Amino acid sequence: MNSKKIAIITGSSRGIGAEAAKLFAENGYAVCINYISNDAAAENVKNEILQKGGRCISVKADVPISSEVARLFETVDSEFGAVSVLVNNAAILKNQCSLVEISEERFTEVLRVNIMSCFLCSKEAIKRMSTKNGGVGGVIVNVSSGASKSGSPNEYIDYAASKGAIDTLTRGLALEVAAEGIRVNAVRPGLIYTEMHASGGEPNRVDRLKSKIPLQRGGKPQEVAEAIFWLASKKSSFVTGSFIEAAGGL
Ligand code: NAP
Repeated sequence: MNSKKIAIITGSSRGIGAEAAKLFAENGYAVCINYISNDAAAENVKNEILQKGGRCISVKADVPISSEVARLFETVDSEFGAVSVLVNNAAILKNQCSLVEISEERFTEVLRVNIMSCFLCSKEAIKRMSTKNGGVGGVIVNVSSGASKSGSPNEYIDYAASKGAIDTLTRGLALEVAAEGIRVNAVRPGLIYTEMHASGGEPNRVDRLKSKIPLQRGGKPQEVAEAIFWLASKKSSFVTGSFIEAAGGL
């Protein structure tokens, strides 16, 4: 396993990714924050980490595009060295509606952003981590969703389908690279207080649905970050191809 602690967390300017970035930095990782447009949010997370004495850079890169992903990983190579932990966290969802209301363009975009980002970033990470390529191993943590199991009817079937693909990719890739020193696992969050619900047109969605959660409350992004961190840490050294539900019992 890679003794250098270098983490790339996609979509880490806000929400779960931002909390994961802070947690990894607090635990001695050099962290690369990635984002698509919100410069101010990325700068805030970076400054918070730097002010606490952590090591951090931010790279604005659109992660479903291979040239952008190559630039992201090459920047980390030159600033910190080869990545040891990749967290595939960036994802989007769109307004709540039924499948018949989803346009072909929207369906394609949601699948492209949520799946291609994971595929392309994992590819770059494996090139660097694999013991077959002279690497020293590493860990990939994918951020899926409880939506992969619920299917999100009347909300965002496109998003749920993309997360189903992430689950399948997690399992297949874990088996494919297990003998190359790389573990691959996923966290399935559910109903976490982040700005993602506003993207679906309902900022207060978690509060509306929290009574249906067995633990009777919505989740904090920090609670998901802890699950991600555990899967990335040596404490989960015999865990691969597995999933942690971080959804209050849903
Ligand atoms: P969020 O608050 O909406 O944040 C999304 C992050 O992804 C932002 O940092 C955003 O950057 C970045 N991003 C979006 N598109 C990108 C792209 N093409 N390239 C690079 N970065 C991109 O989301 P969240 O709620 O923290 O969700 C994080 C993960 O948890 C996602 O995979 C999501 O599906 C999953 N999840 C969340 C919940 C929940 O209840 N919140 C539940 C289940 C699963 P900008 O700031 O620049 O826009």
